[in-house]
Amino acid sequence: MANTFLETPVEYLKGVGSTRAELLRKELNLKTFGELLTFFPFRYVDRSKFYLISEITDDSAYIQLKAKIVRIQTVGKAPHERLVATIRDSSGEIDLVWFQGVKWVLEMLTPLQEYVVFGKPALFNGRWNIPHPELEIPTTKPLPLNETMRPIYNSTEKLKNKGLDFKGIGRIMKNLLLNEKFVVPENLTPDILQNLRLINRQEAFTNIHFPQSPDLLRKAQTRLKFEELFFIQLRLAKQRSGRLLKHEGHRFLRVGEHVNQFYHHHLSFELTNAQKRVIKEIRADLGSGNQMNRLLQGDVGSGKTLVALMTMLIALDNDYQSCLMAPTEILARQHFANISQMLSDLDIRVRILTGNTKAAERRELQEGLMNGDIHLLIGTHALIEENVQFKKLGLVVIDEQHRFGVAQRAKLWEKNVITPHILVMTATPIPRTLAMTLYGDLDTSIIDELPPGRKSIVTRHLYEPDHGKVFSFIRGKIQEGRQVYIVYPLIQESETLDLKNLTDGYQHVVAAFPAPEFTVGMVHGKMKQKEKDAEMKRFIEKKSQILVATTVIEVGVDVPNASVMVIENAERFGLSQLHQLRGRVGRGSDQSYCILVSGFELSAEARKRIATMVRTTDGFEIAETDLQIRGPGDLQGTQQSGVLDLRIADLVKDEKILKYARSVATDIIQDDPVLAKSKNDILARHLLQIDRNHQNWGLIS
Ligand code: ADP
Ligand code: MG
Repeated sequence: MANTFLETPVEYLKGVGSTRAELLRKELNLKTFGELLTFFPFRYVDRSKFYLISEITDDSAYIQLKAKIVRIQTVGKAPHERLVATIRDSSGEIDLVWFQGVKWVLEMLTPLQEYVVFGKPALFNGRWNIPHPELEIPTTKPLPLNETMRPIYNSTEKLKNKGLDFKGIGRIMKNLLLNEKFVVPENLTPDILQNLRLINRQEAFTNIHFPQSPDLLRKAQTRLKFEELFFIQLRLAKQRSGRLLKHEGHRFLRVGEHVNQFYHHHLSFELTNAQKRVIKEIRADLGSGNQMNRLLQGDVGSGKTLVALMTMLIALDNDYQSCLMAPTEILARQHFANISQMLSDLDIRVRILTGNTKAAERRELQEGLMNGDIHLLIGTHALIEENVQFKKLGLVVIDEQHRFGVAQRAKLWEKNVITPHILVMTATPIPRTLAMTLYGDLDTSIIDELPPGRKSIVTRHLYEPDHGKVFSFIRGKIQEGRQVYIVYPLIQESETLDLKNLTDGYQHVVAAFPAPEFTVGMVHGKMKQKEKDAEMKRFIEKKSQILVATTVIEVGVDVPNASVMVIENAERFGLSQLHQLRGRVGRGSDQSYCILVSGFELSAEARKRIATMVRTTDGFEIAETDLQIRGPGDLQGTQQSGVLDLRIADLVKDEKILKYARSVATDIIQDDPVLAKSKNDILARHLLQIDRNHQNWGLIS
């Protein structure tokens, strides 16, 4: 059967054997014929194209030249001798270098013979050369069509030592494709293939490795990218519909007294259109009879908390309790203070529960929750960890989603027979393509509008020698009564070094802002929670004017009077971190500033990150740029998910294919929610097979 062929251990492939098989497994995690087949070339070289020697530049990868050997010499002494052959074409000269097999190569080379030279130029002692090139005598016959595009595979030192460089991998790949039993079963339905004009799977695999033509290569890529993205989307669509079928939801039909009172009498401003739209989306969910599972994205300050509060009031109007979970104690307290204040004139009972809540109070809380006296409970992880019981929990709001793992979210659902509605809020915008892939089974709402009158934060980039300027600017702002954050990077791997960095920075700041005129506080991750809270409290109460900190302040801290954010060594922060940090200011009515301080030596990426920060404050634009710079693998929260272990599709470049894949998958699941129809057998079977290979799929939200 075809499948057993693809599941054959790679060791049985002609040209592999047990040693290489072991290496393929260790180095590339390739164990079977099928897995080898999905090890795609990372690029192709067009063999009909010849470069001139003078065209070689920094970014020349593998190239072909046509040139004559004009000099041959051996340099150095055995066993460290190398062979250098200089070649010349009409544009110039370059050396070909061999460090191994010198004797053998020497015999093979013919002076003044013209060769087709294939290799990757490298810079050595300031001169270009091509180490270990491949040489061929040019033929006058045209290349067979199917050999013009030459696949280049990634390899490793160890594999190369065993003859599996890109050429070696190409050779065994060819053996696989030429095997008489080579059959790749189709996994898409004829409908899909026809509607999207995709080539069949076997043809795609053949052409991705050995393209018959540039056109077929493109078709093969499209087909395989589609397939990869489609099955992710199909799984997500199926999970989502499964959840809707399985999880009956509390039906909140009423919008009553609490909402109306609050909205008409206690809200001092008009909701933004984005907030109105999102509340509408949420209300539709709440009334549907299905459990809501919604992700609410919006930049810091866009008014998510208010949306959450309105949602909780809807729950209350329907006689249900709600809870709001924050990732830290400070944030929980802030939410508690804000919400209590907003609801102060209403007869709504709000309480807070954190890890620090005393046992006696906790007992009293528990009682109030059980008899329904408490309407809203705000807190930290303690909410789920302490086996808190509610009388009628109808809604759970989770703030700053990425700090809570999926597993923790799942815990919430065990509490009730009917799972509560879930609203997840995040201020870390996720690029659309990523959200589709990562959270495809959550519904998403986006607040893409800030409340009116918000002054956009002014962002500047300065270099370290400008510290004097930075400090005098800060001094001016403090004299106006404002407060300032100064952030230093703290990166896990070199904590002690960074800590020194931070404390040096602190000394520096204290020297420039001496007591008693100024008070400078400091918080960092190595401090005890109590100390951290105390320092934060001092800052919130304006007892300190400057807070020297690490990224511990990244999440959610709200001190409206702080209007300057200085980020030292800005080149060491990722974009989303920079954005989060900047979000700590601009929360009051004053003009706020973000000053990025860096050294002069900046990598191209760091330069791009900083330029992006200076250019825009739009979290979505920043997230998209981040995705483009780093690729999806490094974005927050994606590592553990395993979803983004994409072999061929690229979430940045293949957005269009992704959209097709998503819409096709959604249609199919709508028509056949559990893939029970026989026409979809082929899809169901392939999903099952992926499951077997990825046990961790189940973890995805
Ligand atoms: P987020 O949670 O998205 O960071 P918040 O809900 O905390 O944002 O809102 C930030 C600030 O803006 C709060 O002080 C809030 O009262 C205020 N706010 C929210 N919505 C509006 C609005 N529509 N108009 C004016 N101010 C608003
Ligand atoms: Mg918030």
